[in-house]
Amino acid sequence: MAAHRTRLARVTSPASQPASIIVCVECGGRAHLLQIADPEAPYAEGDWAPYRCEDCLDRFDLEVIAEDLDGSAPDRPTL
Ligand SMILES: [Zn+2]
Repeated sequence: MAAHRTRLARVTSPASQPASIIVCVECGGRAHLLQIADPEAPYAEGDWAPYRCEDCLDRFDLEVIAEDLDGSAPDRPTL
């Protein structure tokens, strides 16, 4: 009997958007992506992704780079 493959583990982490949580540049806490990518208007290289830190509440924007979009960012789970 062949094993079925599942993609369920990936549904919360599409490869077409920046990381949803990053390390805050100010305090080292967790900063959350404020605007999840719109399926009809996904992030593209050169866009600005807004984040807010849950610890210091600082708001900052990170420029989206190609590395964010191809799923190879080091803070992204890989299979
Ligand atoms: Zn912070």
